[in-house]
Amino acid sequence: MQNIKDLTLSEIEQGLASLGEKPYKALQVFAWVFHGGAGSFDEMTNLSKELREKLKASFCISRPKIIVKQESKDGTKKLLLELEDKNRIECVLIPEGNRLTLCVSSQAGCPLDCAFCVTGSGGFVRDLKLSEMADQVFVAQSLLSHGQKITNLVLMGMGEPLLNYDEVIKFLNIATHQKGMGFAPKRVTVSTSGIVPMIERLSKETKVNLAVSLNATTDEIRSRLMPINKKYPLKILLDA
Ligand code: SF4
Repeated sequence: MQNIKDLTLSEIEQGLASLGEKPYKALQVFAWVFHGGAGSFDEMTNLSKELREKLKASFCISRPKIIVKQESKDGTKKLLLELEDKNRIECVLIPEGNRLTLCVSSQAGCPLDCAFCVTGSGGFVRDLKLSEMADQVFVAQSLLSHGQKITNLVLMGMGEPLLNYDEVIKFLNIATHQKGMGFAPKRVTVSTSGIVPMIERLSKETKVNLAVSLNATTDEIRSRLMPINKKYPLKILLDA
């Protein structure tokens, strides 16, 4: 059964149209899923019972599972989550002054093999789906006390976000949609090791921030630390 958290607003509209429902209801469903973080269709109380039953028969809503939760003295919380196929990913909540930043993973494992990175040394498993990125936000938010909110998102967890571009752009659009998670684009950052063609695309398609992980100022050292530098050396990376 299709997880409704893997659908964009227009895909929810198409889904509702195929159930004989009016397109405007898609925005209500979208808001319940991505703004309200609903864990079941029964929570969507401004929808008719008939529509809720139709949704239940056609879609499911994922619920992430926390395997390990570690908290450090400064309040940083690291969560190990298990996905439906038993793969595991991490996300980290980082408090700093008035900010509470969630570091989100975009892949299970990573293919880029940076010399300093434990994720890279374990190899690549698979790209994460939209729902698996969104669930990191919902599960982290669910651990906070009343009135506490995640203020910033950084895609700086496991994986290279720009190698999972299509799902990441869906996630960014929902994260910054007023009826979705509602983050201002300036509070969302994508961190890349330097996938040049995708940097150019990202700059055209979103308004979120970009962070580039440099780690060295010469191609010789950077290529040793980050093999992706052989494909996209510093000059073209900096130009991008
Ligand atoms: S791109 Fe990021 S996650 Fe991938 S190996 Fe390099 S540092 Fe690790």
